[in-house]
Amino acid sequence: MGIEITRENIKELIGKAMETKELKVFYQPKYNAVNSKISGAEALARWITNEGEIISPGRFIPPLEELGLISDLDWYMLEETCQFLSEEIKNNRPVVTVSVNFSRLHTSEPDFAERLKKTVDSYGIPHKLIEIEITESALSADEKNIIDFVQSICDAGFEASIDDFGSGLSSLNFVKDVPASVLKIDKSLLSGNCENEKERIVLESIFDFAHRLKLTTVAEGVETKEQLGFLRTCGCELIQGFLFAKPMPENDFRKALESSAAPAESEDILLTLPPASATQLLLDAVFTRYPLIILSNLSRNSFYMMVYEHFSTRSCPSTGVYTELIVHGASSMHPDDQKLFSDTFDINDQLEAYKNGQRVRAVVTRQLGDDGIYRKVETTNYYMTNPASDDILAITLSRAIE
Ligand code: C2E
Ligand code: MG
Ligand code: MG
Repeated sequence: MGIEITRENIKELIGKAMETKELKVFYQPKYNAVNSKISGAEALARWITNEGEIISPGRFIPPLEELGLISDLDWYMLEETCQFLSEEIKNNRPVVTVSVNFSRLHTSEPDFAERLKKTVDSYGIPHKLIEIEITESALSADEKNIIDFVQSICDAGFEASIDDFGSGLSSLNFVKDVPASVLKIDKSLLSGNCENEKERIVLESIFDFAHRLKLTTVAEGVETKEQLGFLRTCGCELIQGFLFAKPMPENDFRKALESSAAPAESEDILLTLPPASATQLLLDAVFTRYPLIILSNLSRNSFYMMVYEHFSTRSCPSTGVYTELIVHGASSMHPDDQKLFSDTFDINDQLEAYKNGQRVRAVVTRQLGDDGIYRKVETTNYYMTNPASDDILAITLSRAIE
């Protein structure tokens, strides 16, 4: 028979659990959607009683919030997380940014950012290693207040994320004004396993909206390969869910980080390319002329759409296997042009031609648009060697020419 938590005893029980450290931080890794490496984690509260019972936050967070007692727990979680990170840094072990949940009740604490900064600084941890999650439902509070609250967190050098996006009623219009840099998509939006067309439309629109606002996206509650596959096509950056890992105790998380940080063989440029701002500006300029720009690694048979507008192609994955991209591209061409397209972009033929000195290859084909009309499309590949390895890369520029 487990502990009975009531409104009367919760304050004392939780106070004690913090004192005795029965209240623990479990870490749930967030994985890079492209290369499946751990690139962040969320700190989640678990109460492990001395009888070994694990009590989930669903049993104690809501009553603590109702009674206005959540603040101490949130600060405790932050301290425990900082303690862990500082230990790892001291021992030269790999670390990633950890997000800590802060209840909406904190949004009216006037000196929140000051206290946050003081706490994190007392452990000597770089601010960029701490992210503050604020649940979407908090956004329904006084808007100006929330904007100032999030701004103060960002001004102090911490990332802020909007948690559980899509679970409540917050308007997209308001989200655009909150200076958070991360949008966490609520698991309820994945409930149809991304197999239902309407669900896919909603998700695609949310990711499009988030990316246009330059928000990093995290999908929460990812449990299946179907969800993962679809989220990748939406360009979702980070995946958090049981498919990859459940929230885990510190020791297991340390091991997971160590194996994720194991030296990679030579890195694929598609996975490591930094979004340098000058490069981005150049890309934006080229994009005004070419509504589809793809970076491919022919040696590794992979591709990544750098920027694209659905100018004529039927929707297409934004990253994946290059030869599949060509099959997909060819299928959208006029039947008389399909062979020309597949032959021109045959991966082995391009690699061979590159060895023989070819640096550019172009073709004009008729492509079917979503509106059922064929348009002439010019597709040009420029070839080069990855300066960091011997991989052969292709940049594809594509545009409709009439
Ligand atoms: P959250 O912040 O949205 O955290 C994500 C929740 O989703 C976690 O539940 C996590 O275990 C669960 N989850 C992750 N991947 C999957 C999945 O693939 N499938 C399913 N079904 N669930 C998944 P958890 O740990 O039970 O926490 C529940 C909520 O309690 C959190 O939701 C958060 O709102 C709150 N919470 C947890 N720790 C704290 C804390 O320290 N402070 C505050 N204020 N709230 C906390
Ligand atoms: Mg959260
Ligand atoms: Mg959440």
